[in-house]
Amino acid sequence: KRLVILGGGESGVGTAILGKKKGYDVFVSDFGKIKENYKEVLTINEIKWEEEKHTDSLILNADLVMKSPGIPEKSPMVKKLIEKRIPVISEIEFAAQYTDATMIGITGSNGKTTTTMLTYHLLKSGGLNVGLGGNIGKSFAWQVAENQFDVYVLELSSFQLDGIINYRPHIAVITNISPDHLDRYNYNYDEYISSKFRITMNQKEGDFLIYDEDDEAISGWFSKNKTKANKIPFSISKPITNGASLNDKTMKINIKEQEFTMDTNFLALEGKHNLKNAMAAASVAQLMKIRKETIRESLSNFQGVEHRLEKVLKIQNVQYINDSKATNVNASFFALDSMTVPTVWIVGGVDKGNDYAELMPLVREKVKAIVCLGVDNKKIIDAFGNVVDIMVEVDSMVDAVRTSQRIAEKGDAVLLSPACASFDLFENYEDRGRQFKQAVQNL
Ligand code: ADP
Repeated sequence: KRLVILGGGESGVGTAILGKKKGYDVFVSDFGKIKENYKEVLTINEIKWEEEKHTDSLILNADLVMKSPGIPEKSPMVKKLIEKRIPVISEIEFAAQYTDATMIGITGSNGKTTTTMLTYHLLKSGGLNVGLGGNIGKSFAWQVAENQFDVYVLELSSFQLDGIINYRPHIAVITNISPDHLDRYNYNYDEYISSKFRITMNQKEGDFLIYDEDDEAISGWFSKNKTKANKIPFSISKPITNGASLNDKTMKINIKEQEFTMDTNFLALEGKHNLKNAMAAASVAQLMKIRKETIRESLSNFQGVEHRLEKVLKIQNVQYINDSKATNVNASFFALDSMTVPTVWIVGGVDKGNDYAELMPLVREKVKAIVCLGVDNKKIIDAFGNVVDIMVEVDSMVDAVRTSQRIAEKGDAVLLSPACASFDLFENYEDRGRQFKQAVQNL
């Protein structure tokens, strides 16, 4: 059977290797350029590929197509495949059929990577033979081809979930839902919400769905739809009997008549959003029967993830924080919410239809100055011009950091949390975060 892979990146190449191993006639087609190291891997494995084009005759004869998550459903080639009724699936769908490991799938608008890494850390510390994949690091398919893990923790974007048919996580997590990527969902928020909930569509009795009980979009979905999985909610605002909740400063998780408690002062990651992420990860760990002491220890020694409220340096008693991964308003909301000292906020980039209204009270309370760094500053200036005393526009990261240093006084913080995409001045959010860190180090 012929397996065609659209996109020769990490998930495409991983799928190609797995497909080849399983006896498929594999072909990889990338409309852009394929990285040299991937080309080498494909060639060594005797897998044919093309780049900078999609050749109809080599693609439309496929029995099965794996589409990389970056390629929109509306792209001309995908449309042609759908017209010809050739199944188009995601890497997760393809690879999951070749492993009987316990599957933990984590999705949501924000907090996916943090929750996935934290969950992985808890399970690994608990001694499980666990793999980490999805949007992070080495592709899941590649790992299935090479390794035999007993458990996989996968970060799943809505694009990965759009391409599943039978994928069934034993434990699914939805961290939260807020508008993002609506350009790929016909600007229809309900379509995007449904896409996230595909994570539970194949779950059966005995599986688990962990989710944020305080999230409006999630409760909205549950008011009209059902899941077969056991529901394990978490909340920081109300008591929960079959899940995680907060009692003053104590995090409590009740699952299957087992109670886990932890003083939240000992959590390694700061901020309300990270408390939620910790609740979700600890709920998974408890379901996986990790010892309570190990869960507590691992939640307190977790190192955090680069570009997510990452503390860079303290210079003249000013703390510099890199939250470059905050590519939407909701993420910046939680970053600002977690600030405990007057903050110089570096914000801006490519606007994604942002509505800044929900940030107003936080900005009023915590932000002493705004440094706008991006192409779409007008909205930011309109929103906060009358709220903060100092508002500056800059056009490079070095300038942003130097300007912030001039404004900040002892005891303040400088926070890069852009609430926008990064493609105006940077290659991606990692590049933006690294440039920030470099500029801070150069101060
Ligand atoms: P994702 O993988 O979903 O993009 P990350 O863990 O990379 O999520 O975090 C992205 C951004 O969102 C970071 O700026 C982080 O501070 C913020 N964030 C993390 N967890 C949450 C959460 N539970 N709710 C809202 N924002 C969050």
